[in-house]
Amino acid sequence: MSIARIALDVPISTLFDYEAEEPVSRGQRVLVEFRRRKQIGIVMEVVAQSDVPQDRIKKVIRVLEDCEPLSEKLLDLLQFCSDYYHYPIGPTVLSALPTRLRVDKPLAKNMRQGFRLIRDPSQLPARKTVARRILEELVKKPCALPELRRLAPTAGAQMRWLEMEGWIERSELKDAPSLPAARLANAHRLTPEQQQAVDQVLQSSGFGCHLLHGITGSGKTEVYVHLMHRILQQGGQILLLVPEINLTPQLEGYFQSRFPEVPLVSLHSGLSENARLQNWQQAQTGEARIVLGTRLSVFAELPSLALIIVDEEHDGSFKQQDGLRYSARDVAVFRASQSGVPIVLGSATPSLESYHNAEAGRYKLLRLTRRAKSESRLPKMGCINVNQSVMTEGVSERLLAEIGARISRGEQSLIFINRRGYAPVLMCAECGWMSDCRHCAGKMVLHLKDRKLRCHHCGSQQGIPAACPGCGKAGLHPVGSGTQRVESLLQARYPDARILRVDRDSTRNKHAWQQMREQIHANEVDILVGTQMLAKGHDFPSLTLVGVLGADNALYSADFRAAERLFAQLMQVSGRAGRADKPGEVLIQTAFPDHPLFRCLKHHDFDSWASQLLSERRMAGFPPFVFQAMLRAEGRNENEVYAYLEKARDQAIALQRGVEVFGVVPASLARRANHVRAQLLIQAKSRKLLQQFLRDWRIDEIPAGKLHRSLDIDPMEF
Ligand SMILES: [Zn+2]
Ligand SMILES: [Zn+2]
Repeated sequence: MSIARIALDVPISTLFDYEAEEPVSRGQRVLVEFRRRKQIGIVMEVVAQSDVPQDRIKKVIRVLEDCEPLSEKLLDLLQFCSDYYHYPIGPTVLSALPTRLRVDKPLAKNMRQGFRLIRDPSQLPARKTVARRILEELVKKPCALPELRRLAPTAGAQMRWLEMEGWIERSELKDAPSLPAARLANAHRLTPEQQQAVDQVLQSSGFGCHLLHGITGSGKTEVYVHLMHRILQQGGQILLLVPEINLTPQLEGYFQSRFPEVPLVSLHSGLSENARLQNWQQAQTGEARIVLGTRLSVFAELPSLALIIVDEEHDGSFKQQDGLRYSARDVAVFRASQSGVPIVLGSATPSLESYHNAEAGRYKLLRLTRRAKSESRLPKMGCINVNQSVMTEGVSERLLAEIGARISRGEQSLIFINRRGYAPVLMCAECGWMSDCRHCAGKMVLHLKDRKLRCHHCGSQQGIPAACPGCGKAGLHPVGSGTQRVESLLQARYPDARILRVDRDSTRNKHAWQQMREQIHANEVDILVGTQMLAKGHDFPSLTLVGVLGADNALYSADFRAAERLFAQLMQVSGRAGRADKPGEVLIQTAFPDHPLFRCLKHHDFDSWASQLLSERRMAGFPPFVFQAMLRAEGRNENEVYAYLEKARDQAIALQRGVEVFGVVPASLARRANHVRAQLLIQAKSRKLLQQFLRDWRIDEIPAGKLHRSLDIDPMEF
């Protein structure tokens, strides 16, 4: 008899002791009863004795043997995350697993399931050529489906037919999957810079963090591909993290085309539960050699992990914004060091954190300063001063004329505005009434397409009032612009132009975005109007003009990272222009054309921009020169929210740990869905100091009633 110490998905920072009658080992899934409910837990430790009185210890109901135990390395990684992010171990461990592993539902027998022959293949009708090829392979030995897919892409359907007709049956495969041939298709000759980057990563042995800073079009992906090729030849697994879920199918297709014989799986929240489990298990068995995924894939089991790549490492979506608020990029760096493997962080506009680390020598900086295709030039960047221009509904005549010129040349334009809907607010000219959300501190956005006012924070909506709810007069008019308004303005100006709006409203349907992309590529679109969805990683060969609206909003923002993000976004969106042989042009509408952000952007000069921001941050005492933690609380009762945070603040000050304790302030959205929101910022000169302080702060012990509270380490949102 032994005691299993188990991680359960309950918000309490402890493990729970259970008595195990059967032998159990660390990492195994078990079924236990907790508060009269059956729950799946993970065994974190096995010990001989418990401090809990004997009569209060329950027994493990069942040890689940239907999947391999979690590895020591993964458990250590999760323990690190729980400690670093000060989040209970149970939810940390359980939330890292595919949903199917968190519920008590029998799993289909594990992946190393294959097929074997049970009838003489010579009796198969001759016209069944693909099925015949599969059976011929099975004559040699039982095979798993991914291996058969290499013979024929339609192997899945064929196998179902063969199984139904009684030619084959499922069987467990005992031998490890054979290593696929790591043939690299369409290998380009690398530029000297690219080659140097590849060599530098491969030359270093063991852990090393490399920041690959390459301008748009410099061929970062080709560097990744060549690195992957070498690692695959050596039998290693690769984890490739990407920011956006809507980019993964495209990227999956791309990398599969470069390594046609190599099993590749993707992991992201858009997969069905079963598909995610299957892919996760293929990574776990080592069968999948390339794992491509969004932030959650940083917790995939990878027994032969030999390289991690984080593409667009500056992207905010690597940071989880609820539950375990981890940064997948930072966890990936830790994971690489834990596994003793190289990691490459790639970006055209690195985060200041990574850039600073490279300057300080902690990361190795690899630069790609030239476009890979010599004939393609960087787009010409310019500003349109909105104070000196004739404007129509927020769009300058100059920009409208440039769009017209593109239409007549059969080229595409993209108008980038990071705001969906028709107008961000409806206002009364008579009395000043505004479309405030009743439940939030924000405004209701006007959506003319479906004639609604809609709150983007809480989702509540209502019809558009016919008269002003404040004074009853007919003085309501939209203020500001969103994608819909720009679309209708352009349609009015260019009635024959084919305009496509790409934002979260127009791409709600599952395949909508995919179809739109095909339309764009087929040149069935003249003008694209869209939000940042359009900025990321898409190549549109006929696009020669990018117009940017509403950029100045970020310059007014209270968030100190807003300008950094704007620069990255504009670099990215400008990278869409003029990728093929046609030169591109980017025109930014602004009231501050002399702002350093636009001046650096005009010269594609990230380094000057970064060094300017860094010296500002150093002076102001902002990250990356300090380390932050944010305690947030929200609840229906304002007094309770503030009382809780004030208590936490008093406790923090009383500790006297040399950390800076700021005042309790309203969150940037001070009320959401009828919940008052406030926050308390803590800042320290070093990570270590902050961590020591957080361990002793004991905010869990402050009574919080029904408040929702969270601690965010290295917060990205203010
Ligand atoms: Zn009014
Ligand atoms: Zn609201």
